[in-house]
Amino acid sequence: MSTILTYIAITDGKIKRSSLEVLSHCKKIGDAAGHTVEAVLIDANASSFVEGIQKYGASKIHVVEDPVFTNHMNTPLLKALAKVMEKVNPAVFAFASTESTKDILGALAANQDAAVIADVSSFELSPNGVKAKRPVMAAKIMANAEAISDRVIVSVRSGSYDLNESPASAEVISVDFSMDENEVKATLKEIISATGDTVDLNEAEAIVAAGRGIKDDEGKALVAELASILNAGIGASRALTESGVYDPSLQIGQTGKVVSPQLYIAVGISGAIQHVAGMTNSKVIVAINKDPDAPIFEVADYGIVGDLYKILPPFIEEIKKIKS
Ligand SMILES: Cc1cc2nc3c(=O)[nH]c(=O)nc-3n(C[C@H](O)[C@H](O)[C@H](O)COP(=O)(O)OP(=O)(O)OC[C@H]3O[C@@H](n4cnc5c(N)ncnc54)[C@H](O)[C@@H]3O)c2cc1C
Repeated sequence: MSTILTYIAITDGKIKRSSLEVLSHCKKIGDAAGHTVEAVLIDANASSFVEGIQKYGASKIHVVEDPVFTNHMNTPLLKALAKVMEKVNPAVFAFASTESTKDILGALAANQDAAVIADVSSFELSPNGVKAKRPVMAAKIMANAEAISDRVIVSVRSGSYDLNESPASAEVISVDFSMDENEVKATLKEIISATGDTVDLNEAEAIVAAGRGIKDDEGKALVAELASILNAGIGASRALTESGVYDPSLQIGQTGKVVSPQLYIAVGISGAIQHVAGMTNSKVIVAINKDPDAPIFEVADYGIVGDLYKILPPFIEEIKKIKS
């Protein structure tokens, strides 16, 4: 019997949903193969998040708590992850594929002499390690990858798995950690949000994305109102980020963010391959476009053909009615 370890990422004082998706999947495949599933929390207030992950079935939760983890910094995070990895010696160490994870995954693999497969959309245990599906070439191609090693690190795109509760009373293990100030060569002073937007597109359950069909402030206001009533993040096609209508950080696609919310509403977006590469993993896709032949309808679950300026007002009113 071996161990599958899952890293639970904390951002802005919250557990990242995508980490819990990965833990849910690890619990499922771990139970099926007779492996134990454990989790690791690393944060300045790590112990306060233990309760939030108890219900996802880990048998042990390793807690690394130190003020050095107040902001993300590669050096201390890498040191803590390596320490826990050495202690637990997992057959698989699974992460949600976040910006911070991307920063340290290669270094951790080198440090721990482990194989690594990054940014997969699914993975399973194989007799020799881990088999995974990995979208490549702007998600046009799905690569089947296999890591052959008795220690495999894998990172998983958000939205790849559903949350699945599986209550267990986990043993909480406090991990000793200290870091000499001299070891930390770079410090992070402040994080300033480029947009002031509170909904992180990587974690958003719903996204309303605007394309060139949005022509003016009236259109932007309709997108903002729809996003607000759905508690959704606002995204945009490159047509609107390049023209300065929306901040570049909101661009979705091949050269923007790759997102996978439960609901993606594409408003006035044609569905160019470079845009679709960033949102095709969304659970339910709704497209509003006046051109019935727009390629976005090929990936949409629901399509509304018509002028968005006429469609959105009654659409918003209906949602308001349902919500009240
Ligand atoms: C290397 C490379 C990388 C790229 N990376 C990205 C990327 O990351 N993300 C990205 O988005 N793009 C990217 N692009 C650009 C991409 O090819 C498209 O040009 C872009 O996605 C088009 O944006 P759009 O759909 O908003 O605009 P358009 O293609 O102009 O489509 C506008 C749509 O709005 C509809 N419309 C217009 N008016 C209305 C109305 N009143 N009501 C309803 N519908 C209406 C039209 O029918 C049309 O389908 C990239 C391109 C290259 C070459």
